[in-house]
Amino acid sequence: MTPDALLLHYAEDLLLLLDARTLVIEACNQTVCNRLGYPSGALVGKSITDIECALSDVFFWEEVRQGGSPRIEAAEGLYLCADGGTLPVRKDVFSPAEAPGKLVVRARDIRAQRHAEEAQMRMASHLKATLEATADGILALHRDGSIANLNRRFTQLWNIPNPYLLARDDQAILAYMATQFDDPEAYLQRLAEIGLDQDGESADLLTLADGRILQRTSLPARQAEHIIGRVFSFTDVTARHLAEQELIAARDEAQASDRAKSEFLAMVSHEIRTPMNGVLGMAELLLTTELDTEQDDYARTIIASGEALLAVINDILDYSKLEAQKISMDEQDFDLADLMRGVQQVFLKQQQDKGLEFACRIEPGMPTHLHGDPARLRQVLLNLIGNAFKFTHQGGIRVEATLQEVVAGQALLRFSVRDTGIGIPPDKQASIFRPFEQADRSTTRKYGGTGLGLAICSQIVALMGGDIGVQSSDGNGSEFWFTARLHLAQDALAQAPAAAAPAALLRADTRILVVEDIATNRVALAGLLKKLGAQDITFANDGHECLELCRRGAYDLIFMDVQMPGLDGFDATRQLREHGCASRIVGVSAHVTLQDIEHCLKAGMDDHIAKPVSMKAIQEALARWRQAGG
Ligand code: ADP
Repeated sequence: MTPDALLLHYAEDLLLLLDARTLVIEACNQTVCNRLGYPSGALVGKSITDIECALSDVFFWEEVRQGGSPRIEAAEGLYLCADGGTLPVRKDVFSPAEAPGKLVVRARDIRAQRHAEEAQMRMASHLKATLEATADGILALHRDGSIANLNRRFTQLWNIPNPYLLARDDQAILAYMATQFDDPEAYLQRLAEIGLDQDGESADLLTLADGRILQRTSLPARQAEHIIGRVFSFTDVTARHLAEQELIAARDEAQASDRAKSEFLAMVSHEIRTPMNGVLGMAELLLTTELDTEQDDYARTIIASGEALLAVINDILDYSKLEAQKISMDEQDFDLADLMRGVQQVFLKQQQDKGLEFACRIEPGMPTHLHGDPARLRQVLLNLIGNAFKFTHQGGIRVEATLQEVVAGQALLRFSVRDTGIGIPPDKQASIFRPFEQADRSTTRKYGGTGLGLAICSQIVALMGGDIGVQSSDGNGSEFWFTARLHLAQDALAQAPAAAAPAALLRADTRILVVEDIATNRVALAGLLKKLGAQDITFANDGHECLELCRRGAYDLIFMDVQMPGLDGFDATRQLREHGCASRIVGVSAHVTLQDIEHCLKAGMDDHIAKPVSMKAIQEALARWRQAGG
């Protein structure tokens, strides 16, 4: 093969040489046979119209035959293959100057190009469908501000006139958008800020002159990391926006009416309280005058009813103040033991009247010098204990304060008020902390109350950084608990850990007898005594056991609970003294009036301390014993 023939053999194009007059193929390169599937040389002698089969090919060769120009460039046609298939080609036909009377056909297989074009068309059609399927209006702009793409939703949202769209008049479309604002300038300025060549997303709300609100978001469009423009998406959020505005307005209105309600309640309560105090004061004065029995009875009823009414008003006033966030917490040092003692005293009469057990206990060794709002703490305790008394008819009430943790000078305290009363059904336990809710409305008549107490407690406890809750079951008593975060008072903080342990006031061999029927009280008292150095502590559950123990051995110091079932502390003491008992006997009782102390001394006791027993009270009692020569 000559070098020229070799090159032709491997040429990419299909090359054919024709007789210009007869259109008979005189020669073709191997590529023609290879691509069309004919054996070498099989096409020589055939007419070009035997293998070019597209309608346009047929017309073209017919024209050439009739003397038309044989010159054609980049025309598409179809070649018939040996197997009956076709090959799409793009071809040039010309008559070479070097060979008059001849025609050269140069064709290129365009199957690969056709496939690529079809794939691109499919992709474009998918993209178009996707663009049209979104609920948002889409506008894609080139960096130069011309429109790259848009969808039908966009044209609907912006009411773009059809002529602009048909003419694809980008500037008219964009200018028309600006005309839909009260302030087109501001819109254009914002568009310029977003920038078509800038990176980053944008999101804003557009308020159109017709009242509609469109949410506009945009993202840069990239090609090979280069920003080529920006795609804007528009959503009509008018309905959602209006609904939000309505919700906000409704919330503001509700808050305002809540505030107004609280203020009204506070004002009304105050206005009622002032004359109520007058009514009560005068009724008290009335009692000091000469009254017959009936009148005295009436006056006392006025006082009792007035006090009940005042309690309700106070609750409402308190609650409305808390609601209106008009209560701030006080900050002062106080002693928790004193506070608990005071709280206990409030209920002494009820305890006696109802014949209930009542014990208050502070966890031995826990810090009691605190800093916070004692009045509010007391209020919560009074409320919970008051409820416990109200709903308990037999058994007792136990109040306990324990230390949960101390973090950065702040103690987390837990208070528990446990009663053996009527209990609360589980489905009511959450609602009773809401205002004006009572577990059983039918019992309101029997027990009274407003249903505000626990709601007030919840709010105060929240102000003290704590939680409140209840464990109870119907008919089986309740335990109300709450936690509170209180700072340790400076003096408590100043105590170094070593100094925090009280100095040993008691010798290890001091024989001590603790007579107390309530186990938690026994443990509490013994805990404090141990901290003061006591090691020899014996317990008696009641007066009889105490007498028995004292018959068998002698004690230096006896802590005698005065109120115990069976043989109480007074009688036990009397009997001990009758049998010549010389122990130092310290009465322990919730009674702290002078008469009570006198009662203790009369029974033969040497001293008296009050419950809940504090470290300070024991230290003072031991100091008095020492002064007395003990
Ligand atoms: P009030 O006692 O004035 O009705 P509270 O808010 O203090 O209001 O209490 C709400 C309700 O919770 C009470 O009405 C009662 O049904 C229930 N409750 C509270 N404490 C106890 C308790 N210790 N035992 C049983 N029920 C209780």
